Amino acid sequence: MIHGTLYIVSAPSGAGKTSLVRELVKQTARLIVSVSHTTRTPRPGEQTGRDYHFITVSEFRAMLDDNTFLEHAQVFDNYYGTSKLWVDQQLDNGQDVILEIDWQGARQVRRLYPESVSIFIVPPSQAALAQRLRSRAQDSENVIIKRLQAAVAEMQHFDEYDYLVINEIFAEALYALQAIVSSQRLRVKRQTQAQAGLLQQLLQP
Ligand code: 5GP
Repeated sequence: MIHGTLYIVSAPSGAGKTSLVRELVKQTARLIVSVSHTTRTPRPGEQTGRDYHFITVSEFRAMLDDNTFLEHAQVFDNYYGTSKLWVDQQLDNGQDVILEIDWQGARQVRRLYPESVSIFIVPPSQAALAQRLRSRAQDSENVIIKRLQAAVAEMQHFDEYDYLVINEIFAEALYALQAIVSSQRLRVKRQTQAQAGLLQQLLQP
């Protein structure tokens, strides 16, 4: 059985990470996104189980005590965490899994899964980022200013990642993400498992 690849995707909020990842997963077989747990209140249109598992702070603490999380972090005033059991089951089943997490979580995952592949997505400019945050209009102006400052802080960590993708033109950024996934799948280590039958046949004396 092929063991899946774990991808970490981080970006400042407003860089378009969620839309890119959604499209990438739609167009790619055997690639799924982990649904995180969060204590944040849902934004309009967000559904529990699809966008996040929305839980209370006490539920989060209980899960933390039970070692449920592969990684967790506080982002803004909310807690976020990734289910270890779910991720490990998917990887064992040969699925590639994407974690959409922040840089703090990314550090924890790299330690636990040294073979994970990490991608950082940035907007083409600070002005574009500010505009995207405002046009989303789901947060108050106060929250937007806080998110802009946090975005600059988050971007300081870009050099801890394996890949850097600039999301100026959606289709090009998507293509870059597809190229990263394809190249990982073509690595000899993975192909040795995936193409075991073919290789055995080809190498017959
Ligand atoms: P938002 O609340 O806007 O959906 O996400 C805020 C930030 O939390 C984003 O940077 C997002 O990547 C990060 N985040 C979402 N889920 C997780 C998670 O499970 N773990 C960590 N460490 N960060 C997360």
